[in-house]
Amino acid sequence: MDQQGIIEKKWSIPTNISEKGKYIPGEIASSVRTTIEPQKLQSVAGIGIGVPGPISPDGKTVVQAVNLDWTQMPLKEILENELGIEVTLLNDANAAALGEMWKGAAQGKADLLFVTLGTGVGGGIVLNGEVLNGCHSSGGEIGHIPVRSEENRLCGCGGRNCLETFASANGLMLSMKKALLLKEESWPELTPPIIFEKAAENHQLAKEVLAEFTDILGQALAGIMNTIDVEEVVIGGGLSEAGDQLLKPLQEKMEQYVFPQIKEHFTVEKALLGNEAGIYGAVYASLNEPK
Ligand code: ZN
Repeated sequence: MDQQGIIEKKWSIPTNISEKGKYIPGEIASSVRTTIEPQKLQSVAGIGIGVPGPISPDGKTVVQAVNLDWTQMPLKEILENELGIEVTLLNDANAAALGEMWKGAAQGKADLLFVTLGTGVGGGIVLNGEVLNGCHSSGGEIGHIPVRSEENRLCGCGGRNCLETFASANGLMLSMKKALLLKEESWPELTPPIIFEKAAENHQLAKEVLAEFTDILGQALAGIMNTIDVEEVVIGGGLSEAGDQLLKPLQEKMEQYVFPQIKEHFTVEKALLGNEAGIYGAVYASLNEPK
């Protein structure tokens, strides 16, 4: 990508997770070397990487990336040694937040809350144009906000009733399954788009499940808004494909729970860049790395 954010070349390679993913950094480096001509590679100013896991506070190590089978992977050092180019690491949700600020739904804004509603719930908080990483690289980990509930849903982090056990695609499907079971009803297929579709067709149970989903998510996001008071909330991830059917009631719920001073002074927008948000944000972070 050039410094204005125009993608010059885009490609992908398979992810080799054998032997605890130890070949991944080397395969990234050799793919870069074979794809970009040596002369061009010399002029590359930096490499930004959005990683699916937390980064150590010094920005050098991927603490853990469950999907890649990594623990304590010194990714920055390995790639800098292999390629001789400065590497900037950041968490993928934080990267997506910066990407949406630079080239997406929050263009021109310096303060935003980015939320991904996918398999899990991720988040990135940008204040004054900078991502909030926190003292333990857990800033913006909004998926693990505790939800008060009589249920006992086990979260991947080891906690109970974390926000993502309710407000993710998996959480939504579990809620729908439980509701159907109670009514001794069953659907041939159950996916988030089907739930939204049924609700749009006035299916009472689907509407109730979505109302509960929106209430839980709206409460959590209102709590964050009361803490950071930003002007825009950007919603990405697979569930954001529901568009206004999700975003309108979500904004209404948030309006109900936020501090009066904030009420009607923020917007909830659908993310624009999809999977590319992280690419833009990683480059943005690399360009803005303090030298
Ligand atoms: Zn959790």
